[in-house]
Amino acid sequence: MAKKIERISLGSMSPGTERHLLVHRYGKIGARPKAYLQASIHADEIPAMMAAHHLIRLLDEAEKRGEITGEIIVVPVANPIGLAQNVAGTHIGRSELRGGGNFNRNWPDMFDGLTEAVESKLGSDADRNVAVIREAMGRRLANMRAEAEFSKLRLELYRLAFDADIILDMHCDDEALMHIYTTNDYWPGAKDLAAETGSRAVFLATDSGGQSFEEQIYLAFHKLRVQFGDKFPIPIAVLTSTVEFRGQFDVFDDLGAHDGKALYRFLQRRKIVAGDPGPMPTMLCEGTPLDGADYMRAPKAGILAYHVKLGDMVRKGDLIAEIIDPLAEDQAKARTEMRSVADGLVVSRCSKKLVAPGEGITMIAGKESLAHRKGALLSD
Ligand SMILES: [Zn+2]
Repeated sequence: MAKKIERISLGSMSPGTERHLLVHRYGKIGARPKAYLQASIHADEIPAMMAAHHLIRLLDEAEKRGEITGEIIVVPVANPIGLAQNVAGTHIGRSELRGGGNFNRNWPDMFDGLTEAVESKLGSDADRNVAVIREAMGRRLANMRAEAEFSKLRLELYRLAFDADIILDMHCDDEALMHIYTTNDYWPGAKDLAAETGSRAVFLATDSGGQSFEEQIYLAFHKLRVQFGDKFPIPIAVLTSTVEFRGQFDVFDDLGAHDGKALYRFLQRRKIVAGDPGPMPTMLCEGTPLDGADYMRAPKAGILAYHVKLGDMVRKGDLIAEIIDPLAEDQAKARTEMRSVADGLVVSRCSKKLVAPGEGITMIAGKESLAHRKGALLSD
């Protein structure tokens, strides 16, 4: 089946302008497994678009050889709204300037109304139950209407992704090592993704509290299983992962080619593309709980001075950074120490050098859940 390019209009928010999504579709619609990949819903996270560019090149070649065996959808620019937001020369890609907030938070609840829609149709056949659940989700999305372009963006991306077996939402962090987020339900099932991408950390959660795009689709299955699992078999039918392609400045053609190949081999392992991906790379880490990640936040305003680098292993109590108050009258008292509350790996750092209270400074992947990490587990 020939590749298709689809353009989906997001409508016009201002006379004379109109944005659209561009979608690369491979394989037969309805073929299984179905993989959905999107890049840069946080529009200033360019490494994800670079990886998508290289993946598309490889998939185009595979398609010519007739090697697409499942269905694949790639959206190389998931957020044309954020891509165009520029204020005085600075790209603002994380939150909508019109006031819609963080582009990857507060997505509509895909569990909403599902209980009533599927309750009388569930039975003893697990595959049939998955089909029933997807049919109900699809019907709801088909009936949903959106006016503003950000709402349309969410709806159209949901419509492309909701029935996929694999959803990869491609991002990057600020300064960071390669890492992924996935669900407790899909771990260790997603080890091949972690291994192929060379992830140095895998953060596991069931509900991170952020209502992010791919988690909302996963949670629909998870919540139905909690609700009906003792009566009917309800598989977690989708592997969802937020894939963090390192830091914002890690944008290089050769690195993107490396990442595109890694995604391609992952799709081969999942039998969505034909061909031998070769031996599985060695895993570089274990999965660790997202609520065990020490998200250190600046206690006060000042100049940020690090005492650790990415990839350092630290112990509880180690000095991670100091905040320096440039206005201190006594420079001997200008420094405020920030010490780790976990043993673990330094996965990310903040690239800003002047920080305000509450701003995230670093993320340390610890193995044990931390008592203070409850509720919303993601950064803003
Ligand atoms: Zn992001």
